[in-house]
Amino acid sequence: MFEYDLIVVGGGVSGLTFARRGAIQGWRTLLLEADKRLGGCLASHRYNGPAEGYWTELAAHTAYNSYGALLELLSGNELGRLQPRQKLPWRVWDGRLKSVFAHLHWPSLIPALPRLLFTPKVGLNLREYYAQVMGQRSYDSLLRHAFAAVLAQPADNFPADLLFRKKSRRKDLPRSYTLKGGLRGLAEMLAEGAGQKIETGVAVERIERTGEGFRLHAGTRQWTCRRLALAVPAWEAARLLDGEFPDLTHHLEQIHPAEVESLAVVVRKERLALPELAGVIGVDQDFYSVVSRDVVPDERFRGFTFHFRPGRLSREEKLACIATWLDLPLGHLVQTAERTSRLPALQAGHLAWVSEVDHLLAGEQLALVGNYFYGVSIGDCAERSKAEFERLCGSAA
Ligand SMILES: Cc1cc2nc3c(=O)[nH]c(=O)nc-3n(C[C@H](O)[C@H](O)[C@H](O)COP(=O)(O)OP(=O)(O)OC[C@H]3O[C@@H](n4cnc5c(N)ncnc54)[C@H](O)[C@@H]3O)c2cc1C
Repeated sequence: MFEYDLIVVGGGVSGLTFARRGAIQGWRTLLLEADKRLGGCLASHRYNGPAEGYWTELAAHTAYNSYGALLELLSGNELGRLQPRQKLPWRVWDGRLKSVFAHLHWPSLIPALPRLLFTPKVGLNLREYYAQVMGQRSYDSLLRHAFAAVLAQPADNFPADLLFRKKSRRKDLPRSYTLKGGLRGLAEMLAEGAGQKIETGVAVERIERTGEGFRLHAGTRQWTCRRLALAVPAWEAARLLDGEFPDLTHHLEQIHPAEVESLAVVVRKERLALPELAGVIGVDQDFYSVVSRDVVPDERFRGFTFHFRPGRLSREEKLACIATWLDLPLGHLVQTAERTSRLPALQAGHLAWVSEVDHLLAGEQLALVGNYFYGVSIGDCAERSKAEFERLCGSAA
């Protein structure tokens, strides 16, 4: 007999949505998360000290009403806890603050636009597709920087068919939203109820196949289960499956990480002349983007998270860069928080890779979920979890 019907490894949005589905199905479900806190890239930092009660996002900042596979898992009560984000503009920073439109190259954009109607995205990367449909000059001057800001990594080679996929919207819900205390609240909400058991601070080290199921090892502890879902980054899944699933390991090793170094600062509202904004796209800067907390206004503070390109600046240089950007002395930064995240650097043609992995998973009681399948957004993660969960439900129990 197995201790659990399902064990989920990884407590980011992919694992939490999978575990909730398992518990709703009536499966004895356990989720194991390496970190002390759940959420992974749902990494809102809640401040203690001078900025007590304030929070900033260190990774994901916006969720949308198009994230159907996530929203369908929430009760009416939970949906009522979603907080609309205030609508504010994104700007461009190339040494000066400018509007997004000022950075488009209109003479090349207008003749290119009709190609939007008949240029397929499949097999093309963002550079190839958007240079065709928006013009090379607009791609170079704005879009490549905007995509890098959205994806928190250099985006030229990212698959065009994985960004802005058409999805239906829940018109009864705010178009974009967060939660009280930031998106980490989403992880906390997904962890509540439904009966799934959750342990944090447990890094799974090894996985063994045992007849019809699996045995997991962490230090001196072991667990057995009938079904297993790995909701960890691709390179971590490759490590855990090494030995038992060599073909899957080989495929997973093809996904490489892209790092982003995020540093958030809190400043007193009255110190800043900067107009309210949703965020800033960095053009040829040390940062991909600056994400502002202005969309969830606060009486005392404003917060800004700078998503820096990796390996360029020391912590001191980043703080100096931020203070210069905000036009404030360093001493006026009330509090700071930081995190390094790793996202998959996907390449054009990625959906063929997904098909190969799905082919290897067919008939197995092993699910692979995460942000390296249908796209990196929270909604893409929830969609992959749903598809894998339905596959496990459909396969012989
Ligand atoms: C800077 C940045 C900004 C972003 N902005 C947005 C946004 O605005 N909107 C949006 O939709 N998406 C955004 N994203 C993307 C999105 O947040 C992530 O792709 C998504 O949250 C990933 O979820 P996940 O559960 O697949 O992986 P993760 O969040 O990485 O979670 C994986 C979890 O597995 C755990 N783990 C790893 N190894 C083990 C192990 N051996 N044992 C146990 N646990 C383990 C990790 O600790 C982690 O908690 C952003 C991402 C970044 C980095």
